[in-house]
Amino acid sequence: MTDPVPDPNAPITRTRLLIGGEWVDAADGKEFDVYNPSSGEVLCRVAEAGPADIDRAVRSARQALEGPWAQMSPLDRSKCLWRLGELLEQHAPEIGRVETLDQGKPYGAAVHAEVPSAANLFYYMSGWATKLEGEVIPISAGPNFHVYTRREPVGVVGCIVPWNFPLVIAAWKVAPALAAGNTVVLKPAEQTPLSALLLGELALEAGLPPGVLNVVPGFGPRAGQAITEHNDVDKVSFTGSTATGRRVIDAAKGNLKKLSLELGGKSANIIFADADIEAAIAGSAGGIFFNAGQACAAGSRLYVHEDVYDDVVAGMAAAAAAIKVGDGFDPATDMGPMVSQEHFDRVSGYLRTGLEEGGQAVTGGQRVGDRGYFIAPTVFADVRADHTIVREEIFGPVVVAMKFRDEDEVIAAANSSPYGLAGGVWTRDVSRAHRISAAFRSGTVWVNCYQVFDPAMPFGGYKESGWGREMGHEVLHDFTELKTVCVSLSN
Ligand code: NAD
Repeated sequence: MTDPVPDPNAPITRTRLLIGGEWVDAADGKEFDVYNPSSGEVLCRVAEAGPADIDRAVRSARQALEGPWAQMSPLDRSKCLWRLGELLEQHAPEIGRVETLDQGKPYGAAVHAEVPSAANLFYYMSGWATKLEGEVIPISAGPNFHVYTRREPVGVVGCIVPWNFPLVIAAWKVAPALAAGNTVVLKPAEQTPLSALLLGELALEAGLPPGVLNVVPGFGPRAGQAITEHNDVDKVSFTGSTATGRRVIDAAKGNLKKLSLELGGKSANIIFADADIEAAIAGSAGGIFFNAGQACAAGSRLYVHEDVYDDVVAGMAAAAAAIKVGDGFDPATDMGPMVSQEHFDRVSGYLRTGLEEGGQAVTGGQRVGDRGYFIAPTVFADVRADHTIVREEIFGPVVVAMKFRDEDEVIAAANSSPYGLAGGVWTRDVSRAHRISAAFRSGTVWVNCYQVFDPAMPFGGYKESGWGREMGHEVLHDFTELKTVCVSLSN
């Protein structure tokens, strides 16, 4: 059964900044255009936060942190977060509509996968609000001491998110930040600000006091930089490119704010000859073409054992060619466009470079249609380790396939990237699966599957893919300060 598709032309209701529980224009009155990437046309205009707005949002977040949010019991905080999860699910059609208009992804994926997975983050994290416990620590400095630890909120947290999963990645950050008792200034990407504004609206409806979640759309170098430089922001949780991550580190030096960084990837996906080849092809195609390849963990480097290389490449090409690319509101669409003209140009440039350097596009390699930012799912063969498209993150529907002979060779190749976000291995040999998983220098390894996410599974990067982890109870360490209290019992 397919859903009734909502009217894409219905008005967009939330386009102003949310600061201190109020919907406001930018202090200087600036606005920016938001585009529909399926048509290239302007969808609406949104208020553009600048440094004065960020400062105001940070002050609201500080007041809420020290006032109503601190006074709310952990159980009441937990109930608010659970309610927010329910409200997201209840409003899934509208949020999904806005996500499709703004980001381009198929409406079915937005409404049935992304909104529920954002809601699940709030359900999962709501449970942690009541379970952030310290420990009693026996010490040897003397018999008359009582020592314990407390987990306290870090404070005001800036959450800066990218455009590929606008709502889901916002939820990855906002849900644990709030569960741990922090308050938030959330800056969505300039390409996709709309679902974050709906999240802010529903947060108020769920009973979060004003100022606990502020939403400030704006550009990275202006609004983003103002958050990362702000001396009253205690922590920034950032997801975006490694190049921007380095700027965030520089900007955070002023007050040495805490940082979590989820950055780029160029993940290796390895298929051994003993794998279930049909499942490996289907899973690897999903692993790269999911979200039009605009996924940080995309399995963009495919290593295939030489005995099955030709079959796998043919299978991947067939899977790619079968993907229907188009407008996200067409129920037949499997894959939407690149998010913007700029990103379309970037991915197109990689396709040209790939061909110039001697790669062979077995399928794809060009745009689809002449309107919007659509790129055909592409499989490159005959590539070498030093080719640009093998080394650099493309962040589009482009996979490079390479042959290997043995485990040592493929592990060395897989780990040769400066990134270390994720990896995949397909084999029926259980010992090999564990050997490869241990050898991978990456934060996640999927065995006989790819792109499986869950609120309980920590996710994050080794090497230049970042610092810290999202999700799981692991993320709560990043959103709390640990205080040690040492009490003398002698007086
Ligand atoms: P980007 O770095 O250009 O932008 C990400 C966010 O940072 C946006 O909100 C942007 O406005 C903001 N920003 C830009 N410049 C800034 C600055 N100087 N100071 C503060 N904020 C600034 O990245 P993008 O192109 O939007 O996203 C794609 C990148 O994100 C890819 O490299 C991808 O791998 C990565 N990503 C990583 C993960 C992960 O979990 N590791 C998830 C999704 C995307």
